[in-house]
Amino acid sequence: RHADAADPAAGAAVKAADRAHVFHSWSAQGLIDPLAVAGAEGAYFWDYDGNRYLDFTSGLVYTNIGYQHPTVVAAIQEQAGKMTTFAPAFAIESRSEAARLIAERTPGDLDKIFFTNGGAEAVENAVRMARLHTGRTKVLSAYRSYHGATSTAINLTGDPRRWASDNGSAGVVRFWAPFLYRSPFYAETEAEECARALQHLQDTLAYEGPSTIAAIILETIPGTAGIMTPPPGYLAGVREICDRYGIVFVLDEVMAGFGRTGKWFAADHFDVVPDLMTFAKGVNSGYVPLGGVAISAEIAATFDTRPYPGGLTYSGHPLACAAAIATIHVMEGEKVIENAARIGETVLGPGLRELAENHPSVGEVRGLGAFWALELVRNKETREPLVPYNATGADNAPMAAFGAAAKKNGLWPFINMNRTHAVPACNVTEAEAKEGLAALDAALSVADEHTV
Ligand code: PLP
Repeated sequence: RHADAADPAAGAAVKAADRAHVFHSWSAQGLIDPLAVAGAEGAYFWDYDGNRYLDFTSGLVYTNIGYQHPTVVAAIQEQAGKMTTFAPAFAIESRSEAARLIAERTPGDLDKIFFTNGGAEAVENAVRMARLHTGRTKVLSAYRSYHGATSTAINLTGDPRRWASDNGSAGVVRFWAPFLYRSPFYAETEAEECARALQHLQDTLAYEGPSTIAAIILETIPGTAGIMTPPPGYLAGVREICDRYGIVFVLDEVMAGFGRTGKWFAADHFDVVPDLMTFAKGVNSGYVPLGGVAISAEIAATFDTRPYPGGLTYSGHPLACAAAIATIHVMEGEKVIENAARIGETVLGPGLRELAENHPSVGEVRGLGAFWALELVRNKETREPLVPYNATGADNAPMAAFGAAAKKNGLWPFINMNRTHAVPACNVTEAEAKEGLAALDAALSVADEHTV
């Protein structure tokens, strides 16, 4: 398990079997060239040729405590020795303890936990609960969002690139959420953006009929779509609108939850309590698949005497729950969340802003904790994205060159369209964060060549 132990022949065998038999997500199978990874530890992983990369993606933004944390690995091993699996209808120690620990950390009265295997299933079930609770069908979701790749979740996702499998019949109505840098409302200030976004939501509701809306779902801080922290007052405004019309407010914390933003949940930054909150990823750093819905007392009560029509064979899987318990203990024992907050404030935030000043290709830096986005542009004045929307091939060459330069400098970058996100493990050290900033500095010089 070490970067020194290069074994190109083993890597070639892994790669050959992958290319022959693994059908990859979101990809044209004939156009991809996946890296064969030999191992990973902490904030790094390495390939079979001895190249080591600082992972500024945390996998898919989920290894919040880094790879192979020994405490969590040991907890999974111990649980495997005691009880590897047990069906969801039974009360078992790892499941009830994980639910207790999660419920104690979620905001407000979100005290009941429905376990799933990941984020999309959490979203599916949150929507089902909201529909059954209200007796209504429509759900409002935002453009520039990601909620998962199953049927309802992909319809809720506000990104046309994901709609190839859209059946268009999921009762979803989309609206614009605030994003000042590319304001859908032509606003100039955060206060203006907030007020106009709330008015737009009101207008959308008025036309749809508030009494037909079961739920409004938002990522507390949209992640995949660009890490856009909402302006002060926006989420409180949405909460107020939901209360006024009896609409269930769902916050999707699959990416932003469990320490990523420097607090347990992103909602904690805004003092807002949703009726349902979805989580996955960071709950156990993805060591074993786990997600869930945290449910308010009022919605839980709907199903006190009426059965909830939904379930999954592996709901609250003992190995996944043991990993969650250990992860939560690691986060507290090693002050991982405090570390994310501090690194964001003292290293990543200032460092990325300095890069923005020095590089013509950086249009905006935004984020907090271990959750940052750089908006790469051809021109800072016009804010024209460095590559066109959904670019491929030659059109995407500037971002491809940026990515290749980052990798050459030992950094594995998160890239989505014209953005790169700096989303390392939440327990990344100051030295590692600075190493990542230096590699980004070099790679941005390559992006600069494509500015006008
Ligand atoms: N919701 C959000 C906010 C996400 O970021 C994601 C995944 O990135 C999902 C839902 C879907 O989670 P999963 O891929 O575990 O189904």
